[in-house]
Amino acid sequence: MTSTTHHPLEDGATEHYDVVVIGAGVSGLYALHHLRGMGLSVRVYDGAPEIGGTWWYNRYPGARVDGPSAPLYCYTFSDELVQEWDWTETQAAQPEVLAYVEYVADRFDLRRDIRLETWVQDARYDEATQRWTVETSTGLRASAQFVVCAVGALSVANKPDIPGIDDFGGECFHTGDWPQEPVSFSGKRVGVIGTGSSGVQSIPEIAKEAAHVTVFQRTPQYSVPARNRPLEPERLAEVRKNWDAIRAEMAAPPQGADFAPFPGNGRSAFEETPEQRHALYEELWQEGSLSFVAGNYPELLMSEEINREVSEFLRGKIRQVVRDPETADKLMPDYFYATKRPILDDGYYETFNRDNVTLVDLRQDPIETITSTGVRTATREHALDMLVLATGFDAITGSMLRLDPKGRGGVSLKEKWQSRFHNYLGMTINGFPNLFMIHGPGTPGVLYLMPLGAELETDWIANCVRYLRDQGLGAVEPTHDAEKTWDREVTELANKTLFPRTDSWYMGSNIPGKPRHFSVHLGGPGYFQRIVEVAAKGYEGFVFEEEHRAASTAG
Ligand code: NAP
Repeated sequence: MTSTTHHPLEDGATEHYDVVVIGAGVSGLYALHHLRGMGLSVRVYDGAPEIGGTWWYNRYPGARVDGPSAPLYCYTFSDELVQEWDWTETQAAQPEVLAYVEYVADRFDLRRDIRLETWVQDARYDEATQRWTVETSTGLRASAQFVVCAVGALSVANKPDIPGIDDFGGECFHTGDWPQEPVSFSGKRVGVIGTGSSGVQSIPEIAKEAAHVTVFQRTPQYSVPARNRPLEPERLAEVRKNWDAIRAEMAAPPQGADFAPFPGNGRSAFEETPEQRHALYEELWQEGSLSFVAGNYPELLMSEEINREVSEFLRGKIRQVVRDPETADKLMPDYFYATKRPILDDGYYETFNRDNVTLVDLRQDPIETITSTGVRTATREHALDMLVLATGFDAITGSMLRLDPKGRGGVSLKEKWQSRFHNYLGMTINGFPNLFMIHGPGTPGVLYLMPLGAELETDWIANCVRYLRDQGLGAVEPTHDAEKTWDREVTELANKTLFPRTDSWYMGSNIPGKPRHFSVHLGGPGYFQRIVEVAAKGYEGFVFEEEHRAASTAG
C-alpha cells in the first residue's frame, strides 16, 4: 500500500494527514493505533481535557462496566496487553477502566498523535481534492483524505427540557458529564431525575452519603443484581491461558442461526416446562450480571409469552425486596424486559428501604417546574440542595449530528438525516465520501461487545482504505440503493423482535422530536461476517472514484 503522507506537512495554517480521527475514547484510540500501524499519518482530536471518551465523562458514583471486564470489556488486539493488565474486579469501576485506557495509550505511544481540548467544529468534504477539511476550536485546521468518526454512541448528554431547569440555585450535575473534582453529598438533600443504568448505579451510592435522596422516576425499570466481585487471580490466569480460543469465540458468528440479538443458552423455552424455565430464571438471577440476558432462552426478545414470564419473575424479585408495598407498586416495570437496555445494580431496590430515600412516581405526580430551591411536582414542593440529572443521552445518532459533517455539495448530515438516519453497514454514508463511523447507527454497537466491535469495524475501515490506496483510487462512498437495502435489513431484524414495541433510546424515543427508528443492527457477530463478505465481493454497494490529480499533490 502506498501512503501519500507519512508526516504532517505545514501548509500555512493547515496540517495535512491521511486520516483524521474524531474522538479519543476506546474506539478512537484503537483506530489511531491500527491506522498508524499501516503507515498512515493520523491525527486524533477530542474536546475533552483527557483521553477516555465515555470513561472520562461518566465518573458519577457507582459507574462501572456491566459486562465482565476480562475477557469481554477490554481490547483484544494485543496478546501482551491481555497478559499485562490485571483487572481487579469482575466488572471494573470507572477509575479502573479509565486507568486501563490511559495505560493502553502510553503502552502503544498513542498520545503524540492526539490533540485534546480540541473540538472539531466543522468537517467539510472537497470534491475537487477528495479530501476533508476539519476546523477546530483551537483555530487549528487540518486536511485529510479520510475522516473516522469515533464520536461515541452515548456521548451527547440529554439535558431534559423541564421548565425552570436553568433556575435551580443548588449544584446540578449530569451523570454523563460529571465533574472532575470530588462531589460531596454529605448532609445534602439530593434529587435524582432518571432511573436508567446511570441512575440505578448512582442512587445507592448517593444514598449512602446524602442526608436525603428524592428519586424522580418516570418509567420504572427492571434491574438484575450485578454481583460484581473481586476477580480471582485463577480466573484471570484462565482467561490468559485460553485467550486465543476466547477471542475467537467472542468474534464467532452464532452457530446455526443467522440472527440472534442475544444468542441465548441454546435451549428452546417452548421445549421446557414452566418449572424448568423458572428454575433457569432463578439460577441466572443468582448468577447476576448480563448473564441474565445472555444465558436466557433465545426467545426472550422474540416471544411475548416468554418475555412476559421473565418480566413477571423480575417483578416478583422487586416485591420480595421492597418493604413498603406502595413504593414497590411504583417500582413495577410494565414493558417487555430487555427492550430497554438491561440494567444491573448493586442494591438498587434495597435502597428504597432506607429512611433517607423517597420515590416520586412522575407518572402520577409529574414535575411542573424546577425552582431555585428544588422541584415542584403536581402535589408538592421537594426542597433540594443538589440535582443529579441521570437523564441519558441523545444516543447513537446524536454525536454524529452534533458533528454535522458537510458532504458533497455542502449538504450537511443534519439535512441528510432530517427524517431518519441513512447509511450503509452503519459505517459509511452516501454523499459523504471517505468518511467512516465507528459504532454508528445501523451497527451492532451498543448491543455487542463495544471494544471488540470497535476493533472489528476499524479493521474493516482500514482494509477499505488499504484497498482504495492499493488501487490508486481517490474516494469511496456507498450508493443510495445500498443505504436503502441496509435500512431495510436493520428494520426487518428489529421487527422480528419486541424491541420496537417499547419507547427506548434504541428507538430514539427518549429525545422529544427525534425520529422513531430502531438504530442497532441486531445481527450480533453475524454482522461482522456480513461486512467482511461485502468487502470480499469487491465492496458490493460502494462506488469508487479515480484519484483526482489535485488530490495526489494535496497531501
Ligand atoms: P437512560 O437509560 O436513557 O435513562 C434516562 C432516564 O432518565 C430514564 O429513566 C428516563 O425516563 C429519564 N428521563 C429522561 N428525560 C426525563 C425527563 N424529562 N423527565 C423525567 N425523567 C426523564 O440513560 P442512562 O441511565 O444514562 O443510560 C444510558 C445508557 O448508557 C445505558 O442504557 C447503557 O447502555 C449506558 N450505560 C452503561 C453503563 C454500564 O455499562 N455500566 C452505565 C451507565 C450507562 P424514561 O425511561 O421514561 O425515558
